[in-house]
Amino acid sequence: MKPFFYLGYWLLLAGACQSPASSDQARQDHPSAAGPTKGQEENYDCRHCGMPSDEFPEWQASLVANGQTYWFCSPRCMFLFRQNPKSGLTAVSRLEVSDYYERKKIEAQKAYFVRGGDVPGPMGPDLVPHATRAAAEDFMKEHQGKEILTFAQITPEIIQKLTQP
Ligand SMILES: [Zn+2]
Repeated sequence: MKPFFYLGYWLLLAGACQSPASSDQARQDHPSAAGPTKGQEENYDCRHCGMPSDEFPEWQASLVANGQTYWFCSPRCMFLFRQNPKSGLTAVSRLEVSDYYERKKIEAQKAYFVRGGDVPGPMGPDLVPHATRAAAEDFMKEHQGKEILTFAQITPEIIQKLTQP
């Protein structure tokens, strides 16, 4: 009788070890049950031109409006989208651009933008943002910039001119 008893015992143990493994297997077969599906991931494509904004970290810009974040490949695209009445933006709560040298996100309203330098953005002529006026002045000297603009000085005409050959 004894050998049979031990055999039964070991079979029971084997069975107990197997059951958690098989439920893991079941979870792997249904990955959508845990975590977001691909369609729910944040879309970093530029809302103005469609280019993937995360491929241009030194130019990437964003704004928050209508309860969502809109990403742009460059300040130029962000300004063009913002001033286009067809964009349907209301209650823009936050505008961010990337500091050209530091590659950090900075508030657009506090940035200094250099116009007319020899560094083109992803879409051509652009405004190059800097966190400080001193950095903007360095960039002006290094890259033959034409002028430094604060956020308040950027008019729709200035943005429109960037797009003209
Ligand atoms: Zn763009």
